[in-house]
Amino acid sequence: MSAANDTGAPCWPHGMQSCVALAFDLDGPTGDALLDGSIWRNPAYFTLGAYGPWRALGYLLDLLDEYSMPTTFFVPAWVIEHWPVQCRAIIERGHEVGYHGDRHEAFWRLDRQQQRAVMARSRMLFQRHLGVTPVGFRTPSGDWGPDTVEVLLDAGVEYSSSMRGDDRPYFIDSPASARRLVEIPGRWELDDYATLAYHRQPNFPIGLDRSASYETTFDNWRREFAGCHRDGLCMTTIFHPKVSGKPGRILLLQRLLQYMREQPGVWFATGSQVARWWTSGHATVGAEA
Ligand SMILES: [Zn+2]
Repeated sequence: MSAANDTGAPCWPHGMQSCVALAFDLDGPTGDALLDGSIWRNPAYFTLGAYGPWRALGYLLDLLDEYSMPTTFFVPAWVIEHWPVQCRAIIERGHEVGYHGDRHEAFWRLDRQQQRAVMARSRMLFQRHLGVTPVGFRTPSGDWGPDTVEVLLDAGVEYSSSMRGDDRPYFIDSPASARRLVEIPGRWELDDYATLAYHRQPNFPIGLDRSASYETTFDNWRREFAGCHRDGLCMTTIFHPKVSGKPGRILLLQRLLQYMREQPGVWFATGSQVARWWTSGHATVGAEA
């Protein structure tokens, strides 16, 4: 990582001022309830997740077309297996797909062999249904274990978007070899769950409004972008089609994309484009990892 007191802005391609790597996690109905099987006793809950690949994804792809916005979708392999046609459209319309577990396993709960098995199965299903081998990974459920970096590198992963350690990309060294991952860090402020998630059971977020005002949410996102852009940094998002790809909320996303597109000097890129720029040696000014 860069030194803690290094506040330098990276260089971006073509002299651009800042970078936006828009990203969505297409979780569908994966997660703990799928992993423990309880989702099959909760059909309404299943449909809440299934709405993402089945319906919201189409709205999003149309919106991204409208703004020519290259985007990365991190997709659990189980979702690809069950909605292959919808997921193929992500590739066909020029976007990137990245790994996000098989059924959204929390990697910190898995031992090395279990993590390897998830990655191998994911790789096989991406190849079978989409004909691609991803190079990006976002850890499901927010964290990973001591073996994970090495497991990812062995699986051919070049970059992750899982950690929170900077507002620019940085390198994560393998503890066991001379290899390293590029990390494109996100933050909760740009996670749509933080303002827009609504669940009856369990109550979430506990003790707070069930979902924030859309106007406030847009204003938060716009200000996050404005700060990143002013300082020449790299912004990514942790948005979810099933949360913000719905008819009312997609208007929020449209306003955000419109606002960002109107600012001069923003490099819009997929995660792999950012990672390759970062490893090219052209990216850093006095901030070499
Ligand atoms: Zn997820």
